[in-house]
Amino acid sequence: MLYQYHCACCNKVVESTEKECSSCGSHNIRSPYGFWILCILTCLAAVILFKISHVYLQDHQDVPLQPSVLEVINTRK
Ligand SMILES: [Zn+2]
Repeated sequence: MLYQYHCACCNKVVESTEKECSSCGSHNIRSPYGFWILCILTCLAAVILFKISHVYLQDHQDVPLQPSVLEVINTRK
């Protein structure tokens, strides 16, 4: 069911070789892979966003570990 091409107008099952719906003549054929590609791209985007936010948070957590202004002043004494 998910691996069949469907007409976007009347939802009729269309052969993958056909360019138009045999029932209503519409050229709007939905690819069965569009849904999965969208799914995978959404997952990839979520993973990339998670990685970026993780690196971003790590960078900000590292800031207090760097020599602070007070420490630099103390070493100059
Ligand atoms: Zn149709």
